[in-house]
This record gives sequence, C-alpha cells and structure tokens, in this order.
Amino acid sequence: MKEKILILGAGFAGMWAALSAARLTNLYDRTDIEITVLAPQPELRIRPRFYEAKVATFAAPLLPLFGVTGVKFLTGTASEIDNKNRQVWYHNAQGQLAAASYDRLILATGSHINPALPGAQQHAFDLDQLESAARLEHHINALADRPESTARNTVVVCGGGFTGIEMATELPARLRAVLGHATPVRVIVVERGSVIGGRYSEQLRGVIEQASNELGVEWLLNAEIMTIDEKGVTLKNGQHIASSTVISTVGVQASALTRQIPAQRDPQGRLHVDQHLRVAGQPEIYATGDVAFAATDDLGNHALMTCQHAIMLGRFVGHNVAADLIGVAPLPYRQVNYVTCLDLGAWGAVYTEGWEQVVKSTREDAKKIKIAITNELIYPPKAEREVAFAAADPLAPFV
Ligand SMILES: Cc1cc2nc3c(=O)[nH]c(=O)nc-3n(C[C@H](O)[C@H](O)[C@H](O)COP(=O)(O)OP(=O)(O)OC[C@H]3O[C@@H](n4cnc5c(N)ncnc54)[C@H](O)[C@@H]3O)c2cc1C
Repeated sequence: MKEKILILGAGFAGMWAALSAARLTNLYDRTDIEITVLAPQPELRIRPRFYEAKVATFAAPLLPLFGVTGVKFLTGTASEIDNKNRQVWYHNAQGQLAAASYDRLILATGSHINPALPGAQQHAFDLDQLESAARLEHHINALADRPESTARNTVVVCGGGFTGIEMATELPARLRAVLGHATPVRVIVVERGSVIGGRYSEQLRGVIEQASNELGVEWLLNAEIMTIDEKGVTLKNGQHIASSTVISTVGVQASALTRQIPAQRDPQGRLHVDQHLRVAGQPEIYATGDVAFAATDDLGNHALMTCQHAIMLGRFVGHNVAADLIGVAPLPYRQVNYVTCLDLGAWGAVYTEGWEQVVKSTREDAKKIKIAITNELIYPPKAEREVAFAAADPLAPFV
C-alpha cells in the first residue's frame, strides 16, 4: 500500500510543498509515496497582485506542473480534519461530502480577512480573494455610470498596513482613468495608529509619507471606524466620510481549519510549529505558509503572512514530510533574509532589506524590482520536471 501525503491548499505554500515532496521522493526513487493536493481550484492565485487592475488574470494553472511532477490533484474544500482516523472530510466539485486519507497531513490553507468592522460584511469591499477583488474592480470601473457626487469620488481604505498602502497609492490613477482627469477624486486611509506606517522602520515610513503626499493620498490617523454603511464610514469620534467605495484591509486571520488541530496558536490563529514545521504535539500534522507560526532564525524573528515566507515554508515542509516517510534527516527551516518591496502606485515603489527595513531603492528603480517579483519570481516554475524539482529544493537560493 502506498503511503500518503495529503496537502490542503494550492497556494504558494501548498504548491511548493507538493513540488518539494515530489522532488525528494523522486531522488530516493520512492514510487510508493503518493502526494495529493486538495484545493478548490487547480490554480495558484497570485494574491499579492489583487490590488492591481485585471485581477481575474492573476491565477496560474497547476495541472500541467502537477502532471509532470507526479502530484495528484483533488478538487474540493476541506471541512473536517479527523486526525484519529487520519482522514480529511471535504466537499468535492459536485458539492458531495467525501473523505481523503493520509499518513502525513500538510495544512496550507492560507489566511482570509475577517470582516469584523461593523457593517463591513454588507458594505465594504476587500482584496482578500480573487472573487472579492474582482467585485471591487468591477465596482470601480462602474463608478462613472453613477451621478457625480462627493461619495462617488471618494474611496476610503480601512487600515494602513502594506495591503492598504498598496491599494491606496494605486487608486488616484485608477480613479482618474475611470472618472476623468478633471474629477476631484479623494483617497483616504483610515488608520488607528498615530503615525503613517507606524509598524515599519523610520526610513520606510518617510518614503510612504512622501509618496502619499505627492499622490494626494490622505491619511486620517488616530482614527477608529465605528460603522460602515451604504453612505460611507462613521468614525468613533463622530466624523462621517461620505463614500460609495469603502475597502477593508484589516483583520487577517489564519484559515479556520487551524482551530480543529489541538495545538498552540498565535493571536492570528497560526499554529506553532517546530523547526521542521511539524505542529507541536501532532506527529502526523505539519503546517506551512500563512497557517504556520515559524521561527525564521535564532534571533527571535518569525515568518510573516507573506508569500516570501510561504514559498520557503512550502519548500521546507514538503521536503521534511517526505524525509519523515523515507526515513532520512529533515532540514530545519531557516530564512534569514527578509526584504520588503512595496508598490506605491504612480509614484513608484520602495525596496528595503533586512528586518530593520533599510531602504535600498525607491521610485522607478524599486518599481522594476517589484514587477520582477510579482510578475515572475512568485509565479509557479515551468511545467518541466527537472526545472520544477531544481526550483523546489529548499536549499536553492531564493531572496
Ligand atoms: C491584497 C494582498 C496583497 C498582498 N501582498 C503581498 C506582497 O506584496 N508580498 C508578499 O510577500 N505577500 C503579500 N500578500 C500575502 C500573501 O499573498 C500570502 O502571505 C500568501 O498568499 C500565503 O500563501 P499560502 O499558500 O499560505 O496561502 P494562500 O496563497 O492564501 O493559499 C491558500 C490555499 O488554500 C486553499 N484553501 C483555503 N481553504 C481551503 C479548504 N478549506 N480546503 C482546501 N483548500 C483550501 C485556497 O484555495 C488556496 O489554494 C498579500 C496578500 C493580499 C491578500
């Protein structure tokens, strides 16, 4: 009987986990180990590009790649992890309940926005998933059909983290393209913190502030949202901002499946994992990508919910799960290098290196780096066996 590795999720972490596990089983000629990915769609959705226009095109097919590397794909959405019987219950493409068994499970179901702001679920847009980002794009493109008003011309972005900043700085050009260059458009970032980019280095903050000023993106600081409704946003201090387009970027949480695994989780719901990415106290279960709280080094840094980390976490976890079944030594996950590349719309971009976020490049130069990352580096490798296996090696250079 074949031993089974089951991977839940076909995002950055799940895809690389599958390729990396396939690489190691191929190296050891272990045709008795079966690798299966279970996900709603056989495609890699490029979430870091969801603030851009033409969002429906940001998905790369995975079946050709899985085909040449010997990875099986099951279409479905997992609903229950039954670790006692080593099986996962899921709804298949026809909506029927089915079970998939495993010897080792890799949880790679990513994260999602939790619409906790009052009224957000009904009245706010988000960029979290392809469908919701496409809904926002369709709404923006249709704004020109509405009668001229302050609310029509104003977009409120809730939350000034990376996603909020990338969306907000992209918007002035997008809105002018839709509404005309003479239209007085406003983009307002509502941020709870007292400074722009308060979680980032002083250097990076300065660049974000400069770009916002030059693009005309306004920041409302020390501002907390009380409610969102069809007329706009009301803040806790009573201020009302009329807007037909409220975009929420706050409250990202790890996939709810993490709650079914009895183990320690961080405040965002990520499972604590050891250096081999095994969930603490669960010998058959590993976690990776946005569902894993993993140390990147011995200095106290941990992986962030970024695809930069998800890609490497995926390569290590696939290797380690296969190593576990083959009976060879696993590799401790290490990812010492950390970079940030933030799109700043028509202003350009900013690129930093290290956890101290030292600014290395700005404007058009950084934009070239951003485009190289988001349009090439993070896409799946070519659907060629040797190319895919070489790229899936956890020790191959990345960033
Ligand atoms: C708007 C936006 C901008 C971003 N910008 C950046 C950036 O500039 N740089 C950066 O590094 N990161 C960025 N990120 C974060 C990055 O996209 C995530 O960290 C990354 O996608 C995490 O990879 P993952 O594989 O863990 O999860 P995901 O990519 O979310 O993949 C999860 C997979 O699990 C599947 N799945 C979910 N639930 C189930 C289920 N119940 N059963 C089976 N399958 C399931 C999904 O369909 C998907 O295939 C951004 C994210 C967003 C939303």
